[in-house]
Amino acid sequence: MGGLDTYKALRDEIDYSTIKLWDEHKANMACKKGCDKCCLNFDVFPVEFDYIRQKMEELYPEVLKQDKPEKTGEKCFFLKDQQCTIYEARPIICRTHGYPLLYMNEAGDQWELSHCELNFTHVDEEYFHEDNCYPQDTFNSRLFMLNKEYIKTAHPGKGEFDLIPLVDLLT
Ligand code: SF4
Repeated sequence: MGGLDTYKALRDEIDYSTIKLWDEHKANMACKKGCDKCCLNFDVFPVEFDYIRQKMEELYPEVLKQDKPEKTGEKCFFLKDQQCTIYEARPIICRTHGYPLLYMNEAGDQWELSHCELNFTHVDEEYFHEDNCYPQDTFNSRLFMLNKEYIKTAHPGKGEFDLIPLVDLLT
């Protein structure tokens, strides 16, 4: 397995992890269809970009046919009427929003926790522990490493930190 298959396996694992988090936290989460607070203009790694394009060709060919906008605002271009028009193909960042995200701070000496301000409004910090949060650094590191491998052959001109705006899916 390699390339886009490896990305798909990681994405499936992340989906599995967020389904478990939803089961545990849904009483404390306001996330629902129609809330677009976290739908901003995102950039993604080439491996994710290529996988999303492949899924869009399969599931959302009409969305791909749109002209690329000359300018983009703060909000994601693929958000229409407060709904995601590429929902099944959306990137990992969109699949984890709203959940309690656990990550190391920039100095590398302390764990940080973040979540949407609309969620977890009635719990205190003791509610959270290592096993009921999304391990963001672990999954992000795996994504970084598999992208690094992927670009060697699929995007030889790109560096390991290069990202592509999601809106570039449109030509
Ligand atoms: S891809 Fe979909 S879920 Fe992600 S920011 Fe855009 S509209 Fe929102």
